[in-house]
Amino acid sequence: METPANPTNALFDLALCRAVAEQCGGAERAVFCVDNTYMGPLWQSPIAHGADLVVYSATKYIGGHSDLIAGAVLGSQAYMGRIRALRTFLGNMAGPWTGWLLMRSLETLKVRMDQQALNARSVADFLAAHPKVAKTYYLGHLAEHSAQKEIFNRQCSTAGAMLSFDIVGGEAEAFRFLNALKLIKLAVSLGSTESLAEHPATMTHSDVSAEDRERLGISPSLVRISVGVEHAEDIIWDIQQALEKA
Ligand SMILES: *Cc1c(COP(=O)(O)O)cnc(C)c1O
Repeated sequence: METPANPTNALFDLALCRAVAEQCGGAERAVFCVDNTYMGPLWQSPIAHGADLVVYSATKYIGGHSDLIAGAVLGSQAYMGRIRALRTFLGNMAGPWTGWLLMRSLETLKVRMDQQALNARSVADFLAAHPKVAKTYYLGHLAEHSAQKEIFNRQCSTAGAMLSFDIVGGEAEAFRFLNALKLIKLAVSLGSTESLAEHPATMTHSDVSAEDRERLGISPSLVRISVGVEHAEDIIWDIQQALEKA
């Protein structure tokens, strides 16, 4: 499973999922595996909440510079032994150049992620107050005492740097906004030093059926932003000028 959900930031209870896994399977119960890419390795620790395996796209926060493709998996010895054996057969280990880039990236992981989360707060506050924004999906804006906020308090140490919003209007307005951006790049990746924006309904989630997209809140007016390390005022300036053109 994945929490927060991409791209709506809907939260799911990790301990509850572990309890469900305990009920599933026979002699060998279901393996509880969490994709923790959205919160990176610093802001949420699924193993502490019962996950057997945690997977990352290291292409995102861990690499952080949009210049490598890699993955990571962690878990107990028993599971990792099987994964290592499978990796030998499949041959999907990273090359030395990717390894070197990852070692370089780890030196700045915390300062990058701290700054991204700080910038995301400013961007989310700006969006929430803008008349051309119908709704924001940001973990720092959850209602106090809501079920979502309770899960957030248990599982997440920050609101992260991923946020989405519904622009007033529909697909046409969302496209005009995305095409008008000057600093923020149009791309489906996330978690890197540069801010990125995308349109989930026609890009990352275009293979999800229209019914499921509607059910999950992935509407034609939804825009997702991965907030980078640029000066927050520059990011907000870009969003503001693009909203004016939308
Ligand atoms: C990007 C992403 C992946 C895929 O990772 P790649 O490194 O691009 O192969 C998987 N899960 C999540 C949540 C991602 O954001």
